[in-house]
Amino acid sequence: MFNKKMVTDLDVKGKKVLVRVDFNVPIKDGKISDDTRITAALPTINYLLEHGAAVILASHLGRPKTATDIQFSLKPVADHLANLVKAPVHFAEDCVGEVAQKAAAALKPGEILVLENTRFHPEEEKNNPEMAKQLAALADLFVNDAFGSAHRAHASTAGVNAYLPSAAGFLLEKEIQYLGNAIDNPKRPFIAILGGAKISDKIGVIDNLLQKADHILIGGGMANTFLAAKGYEMADSLVEKESLETAKTLIEKGKSKLMLPVDMVLADKFDAEAETKVVPLGDVPAGWRVLDIGPETVKAYRLTILDAGTVVWNGPMGVFEFPKFAKGTFAIAEAVADSQSISIIGGGDSVSAINQSGLADKITHISTGGGASLEMLEGLELPGLAALTDK
Ligand code: AMP
Repeated sequence: MFNKKMVTDLDVKGKKVLVRVDFNVPIKDGKISDDTRITAALPTINYLLEHGAAVILASHLGRPKTATDIQFSLKPVADHLANLVKAPVHFAEDCVGEVAQKAAAALKPGEILVLENTRFHPEEEKNNPEMAKQLAALADLFVNDAFGSAHRAHASTAGVNAYLPSAAGFLLEKEIQYLGNAIDNPKRPFIAILGGAKISDKIGVIDNLLQKADHILIGGGMANTFLAAKGYEMADSLVEKESLETAKTLIEKGKSKLMLPVDMVLADKFDAEAETKVVPLGDVPAGWRVLDIGPETVKAYRLTILDAGTVVWNGPMGVFEFPKFAKGTFAIAEAVADSQSISIIGGGDSVSAINQSGLADKITHISTGGGASLEMLEGLELPGLAALTDK
């Protein structure tokens, strides 16, 4: 149950509402290459506009080093947003200070103001109270709809709440409900699929899911560390030596729950044009490295996925950026889409694989937050959510 005060609980008519959105989108040559996060915020933005509010949008974009790091400007995002809404969209070249104050003061009901990148101020990531106060001073009310940033305790995600009546937006609510239900009240069997480069990033997630899920299917580079921990020779594969002991403990705890690859696709170098071959577990020759799960592994994982009541997937099964090593990831995308399960996908790479496959509409919920969804899978409290007022 989502127990936070909602945007619908606020009287927004004639008010200025500061909305923290996650507009951290990929931009190439000044153009947005994937606007999922922007369109996902539209229900909250449109609700506020339709109910007579003036909407002030705050977000970070990327990891700028200085305020003049203009490649991280939110101006292209504001321009893109203007094509998606009927309302006039203004842009303020700073998120606090005189420029922002003037723009916010001039904003009328039914209009949108996009503030410049909050991370142009180092105080943002320090959750500096003065920065939070300055953001709050722009508006009458605060709505947090930035699920993708909810795992950060920053001034615009968790600090500003102290100075304004606050509530959750529709996207934040939807994300928390889907993931929360999947983890705490799953239709069984509950299958988690975890991939990506490193086990060290996901130890907490595996640990928590071992208590909640019925099976955890492991792929990607992190499978190598597990297999090395079981004593298999992995040759030139990516193996995190410092995590071998942890991997052993997880295998011991996981017993039959943890499923590992039984065959693999090898490469003779880390390159899109590398020579490839498929080998069974234990047959990685010197000079070769594992870059994808093999066809027998796909078969076994697919069967498990087709039988699932709930599937949660985060992380690619191989180096899917190279087409020769993308088969495993795409086969898993297909299996998740083919299953009748409640399916939830998070993390940039797995989301990109499902989108590239054209199977996105077969998935119950595609999360806009990779890091935030991982922290939920880990059982951690999200600071952006915790800071909001309870119902
Ligand atoms: P992460 O950010 O931890 O989810 O990792 C994603 C990255 O893991 C992708 O860029 C993949 O190319 C990489 N990856 C997946 N499988 C492997 C592998 N077997 N060896 C090396 N890198 C991998």
